Amino acid sequence: MSPEIPIYSINAYLYCKYRYYLEEIVGLSRENKHITKGALINEIKTKKSSTKNWKKIKKIFVASEKFGIYGYIDNIVKTPEKTKIVEVKKGKSIKPFESDVIQLVAYMMAYCETYSEKPENISGILKYEGSKKTFRIHFTEKRLKKLYDITRDIQKIKNGTYIPSSMYTKKCKECSLFEICQPSEKEKSKMKIMPSKFDKEPIFIFKHGVFIGKSGENFQISYGEEKVSIPSYKIYSLNIFGIFSISKQAIELASKNNIPIIINSSYGKNISVITPYFSKNNFLRIKHLKKVENTEFKMELTRKIIYGKIKNMEIFLKKKKIKINFLKYKKALLKEKEIGKLRGIEGAATKEYFEYYKKLIPENFTFKGRKRRPPTDEINSLLSFGYTILYNIVYSLILSIGVDPYFGFLHTTQYGRASLALDLMEEFRTLLIDSVVLSVINKKIIKKKDFKKDVSGAIFISQSAKKIFVEQIFKRIKKKHYYKPAKISIEYIRIIEAQIRMFQKAILDEMEYIPFTIER
Ligand code: SF4
Repeated sequence: MSPEIPIYSINAYLYCKYRYYLEEIVGLSRENKHITKGALINEIKTKKSSTKNWKKIKKIFVASEKFGIYGYIDNIVKTPEKTKIVEVKKGKSIKPFESDVIQLVAYMMAYCETYSEKPENISGILKYEGSKKTFRIHFTEKRLKKLYDITRDIQKIKNGTYIPSSMYTKKCKECSLFEICQPSEKEKSKMKIMPSKFDKEPIFIFKHGVFIGKSGENFQISYGEEKVSIPSYKIYSLNIFGIFSISKQAIELASKNNIPIIINSSYGKNISVITPYFSKNNFLRIKHLKKVENTEFKMELTRKIIYGKIKNMEIFLKKKKIKINFLKYKKALLKEKEIGKLRGIEGAATKEYFEYYKKLIPENFTFKGRKRRPPTDEINSLLSFGYTILYNIVYSLILSIGVDPYFGFLHTTQYGRASLALDLMEEFRTLLIDSVVLSVINKKIIKKKDFKKDVSGAIFISQSAKKIFVEQIFKRIKKKHYYKPAKISIEYIRIIEAQIRMFQKAILDEMEYIPFTIER
């Protein structure tokens, strides 16, 4: 068996199988105080470790084909006859944890195989910093059998034939992935979803001629004499509109931090995406594709997304004192048994919504109804550009969570179209874009002079007004709103992220998707 399992991950597996799955398959990992401290201790011990008459070796690569494992051993001390593999752990344990023992046995086994060493010449030393306790570990049949069973189990998770599930245990309190995992002792359908707390931002660049470079772990964005430095850990996507250049080092920094670089034309048309990978999680992608082919699931999810969109349009108009009643659409949604007809309901409701939306536009602007390509008036131009911004935000969040953005349900699969991003932005169009369009024109933040007509007669927003408009959209997406599934008020951007996580759990059959709707 080729060595494909990193030895460090065995510890995560023994801590919690679901955690292993999230870290190694989904590709999530969050540093917490415990992880950081553990890493630090290892570093300090590596520097200080010294034993008289023994030769010290640091950081060597080992692998075992028999177990399919590989890794780096930080500390080895040896004489010509004997070898000790030293593993230092944080914690105050007064007896060795089984997970630490098995991990150390894995390193010892891989060392034997790599250096053709006899097992009887190898021993392991397990040290706990907190309790200052040291334990000598040897090979036993029981431990080797356990290691063998674990590596077989991990292989099944890796090749997608087994997916562990989350379950609340006392370990969860200390787990760095708690917010993402949301373990529950309750039924799956009643599981709560929580947005994660990491404070990353999408970055939008609109100026032509910008250069994106790298300095240390920061992106250096230069435009003539202007220079801005942004730490990579604060970003989850780079969204570029117009002409730019970028260094290879900046692309590498983005790839290393799983930051997609989304390249758009200056009018907002998506041209390309540089992304390290959609998702390491092939099993999730297979499940996702199966759900796309599953008519019942597809109908149900489409129905819910459309319901969320219609309800938000209705409440939005009612808040603007427009008397409307979309009950007919909501009732029709429940009855329809064909996906095409569901899409038809969505189209009809949206058309009617824009008939009312028209009434909210000040007289000095023209808006004869929604026209996508090309926008023929200022309002359509703002709406189209705003939806592009929202699309970029949803698309990059989907990528960062590890879901494939190209397979949707309400929106059909088409060549190069990120249908899932279009699906999952539906609930937010009115709340985050239509409302901001009204706000910027009513408050005269954007005026008629901020638009220009091109040779084809299409109306486009100027570069300077784009920046102002995007700032206003960001003000809105940073606003907090009550999020019922988590029973807390959080920023809209975190709500979008939580909805994507909910979708992810829905395709894994771990919970039902509930559309996000606002209340009156
Ligand atoms: S929160 Fe609990 S169930 Fe979830 S990954 Fe962590 S330890 Fe496992």
